[in-house]
Amino acid sequence: MPLAVPNIGELERAYVLEAVESGFVSSVGPFVSEFEQRFAEKVGARHAIACSTGTAAIHIGLLLLGVGRGDEVFCSDFTFVGSVNPIAYLGARPVFIDSETRTWNIDPQLLAGELDRRAAAGESLPKVVEIVHVLGQPADMEPLMAACERHGIPMLEDAAESLGATWSAGPYAGRHTGTVGAVGCFSFNGNKIATTGGGGMIVTDDDALASRARHLTTQAKVPDVGYLHDEVGYNYRLTNLAAGLGLAQLARLDEFVGAKHRIAARYDEAFADLPLILPPRVDGLDATYWLYSVMVPETDGRGRDEFLAHLNGLGIGARALWRPLHAQPPFSAAQVVGGKVGDDLFERGLSLPCATELTDDDQTRVIEAVRSFFA
Ligand SMILES: *Cc1c(COP(=O)(O)O)cnc(C)c1O
Repeated sequence: MPLAVPNIGELERAYVLEAVESGFVSSVGPFVSEFEQRFAEKVGARHAIACSTGTAAIHIGLLLLGVGRGDEVFCSDFTFVGSVNPIAYLGARPVFIDSETRTWNIDPQLLAGELDRRAAAGESLPKVVEIVHVLGQPADMEPLMAACERHGIPMLEDAAESLGATWSAGPYAGRHTGTVGAVGCFSFNGNKIATTGGGGMIVTDDDALASRARHLTTQAKVPDVGYLHDEVGYNYRLTNLAAGLGLAQLARLDEFVGAKHRIAARYDEAFADLPLILPPRVDGLDATYWLYSVMVPETDGRGRDEFLAHLNGLGIGARALWRPLHAQPPFSAAQVVGGKVGDDLFERGLSLPCATELTDDDQTRVIEAVRSFFA
């Protein structure tokens, strides 16, 4: 039983076939701009620019906000490596900020503390703060934005895993993740809640940043002038074929989020009496539960590894959470602020099957397998 698999239906088939039959399979074609428009409407952003991957979207997003050689970028420590590889592509250095236990996302107190400390000591400040909304869980945005604004630092949101997640209280009530910072980035990799096979999206409300993003993702080609490229650009545009798939997935996003919510609610209820730490549930931060992840206590000498082996042995595709970035060899020299919460999530965390097409019977099997470990 897989952890999560794409949900591809009739609409996806129809749009992809239409792209193939129209001959517009490459990066010029009507589906790309339609996908961008619908996406911008869905999340409530002024502009959306489709990219070949989520990593490419973050790369361009950091460029838009002026990140270059020697700069520092503050970033979540507990996240997938795709969040920070683009920092290295630009010759910049990440500084990793630990998570809070309440949301598993970047800790607002640690972020504010390090920014305030540096400012008071006259030390350099980061060029950008990159906030990741992990596993479909929105970060606690109000104090994070306040800290960035106090020091005049733009925020990039890595919303690769949180398409469909929103805030429902506070100053950002009604807003989607990815639309509060200066730039937001999404991914449509095959494992995400909506997929284009591979793809990404940049969103922003800033007209100038949007047109620069469009320029940079298309080899910096100056329109209407014969082969003039006025800076070093990137071949990062999404193909029309992929956008066809994306358009169909976007039309079904509410269905997917609804399925994730149903699956999470049933797991929560089934595990309420077990010694597991269940996924964050915070009023005002409306997660999608893209992945349903729990933390396992060490009991009688048996911990997460034994739990994972038990589930995998029963054919259940559970998977450990990420090794935090401060523990990854390419970033071992980076400054880390905190680090214990990310280590703990890595050592004790795992995700359970939660494909949008998971059947009730299959979920029952997962629940019984989990309970049998603690029996
Ligand atoms: C998937 C992911 C990315 C990268 O997206 P790709 O489309 O795979 O390049 C970046 N950040 C996070 C948090 C992700 O989960």
